[in-house]
Amino acid sequence: MKPGTPIIDICEKVEKSIIRKGGQPAFPCNVCVNEVAAHYSSPLHDKRTIPNDAIVKIDIGVHVDGYIADTATTVNLKPEYDGMVFAIEKALKQVINAVQPNVKTTRLGETAKKTIEQYGFKPIWNLTGHQMKRYVLHAGKSIPSVPRFTMSRLKTGEVFAVEPFLTLSSGSGEVHGLDEAYILRYHRSKSTRNPKARNLLDVIEKAYRYLPFSQRWLKDVLPPEELDQAFKDLLSNRSISTYPVLVEKNKQVVAQAEHTLIVTKTGCVVTTL
Ligand code: MN
Ligand code: MN
Repeated sequence: MKPGTPIIDICEKVEKSIIRKGGQPAFPCNVCVNEVAAHYSSPLHDKRTIPNDAIVKIDIGVHVDGYIADTATTVNLKPEYDGMVFAIEKALKQVINAVQPNVKTTRLGETAKKTIEQYGFKPIWNLTGHQMKRYVLHAGKSIPSVPRFTMSRLKTGEVFAVEPFLTLSSGSGEVHGLDEAYILRYHRSKSTRNPKARNLLDVIEKAYRYLPFSQRWLKDVLPPEELDQAFKDLLSNRSISTYPVLVEKNKQVVAQAEHTLIVTKTGCVVTTL
């Protein structure tokens, strides 16, 4: 990752590497620059590159037979942001240290917030870690980066992705969705008048019924113009839906760190170290 590197090269390199090592991508590789916090993955023919002086989140998901590992790190190309990366890694570590059976999720939120604020930054309240189950990326319980009114607790044997996000103190501490979306998910089987769209949906149902996918992974199903129209049709009849790109509301830079863990009787085992 250097200034000028095409983002699509990073996404494809990561996804190919996952497959070469015997896994499958659990979702398209996310590469999120500066104020983009989450859900940017290169679309087909992406022309974007890593800019100078960027802070970049790279978020990778792998599954083997539906068992998911979800992990992210922040790569920093500007020394000014070193403190953000240090603080978010520290916050993740502190939350992992606080994991034990029956711990309340709000308690973990407190830990994340306290650590992030200690270094002079602001947690993002509306992005959370999440429970995972087989073939389910976001399953039930959430792990916030701020305290929340909830009785939710972690149980032995449950699997979680813990992922605090922070921004500068001048940030709003909140993300919102853009009109752009490049990460897709299967929603339902709905009839369509376009036989090419039906054909595309059949392929999606077979390969990506449960986990998010990219248009890039389906580029060989139809010729380019037909593919584009087929995706439009599937989106408009809501056979598939999207995860919009999420950006910090005040356009301030964002850092993220993430690991996947299994709750054990004595604490947890981190599976993505
Ligand atoms: Mn992730
Ligand atoms: Mn995650």
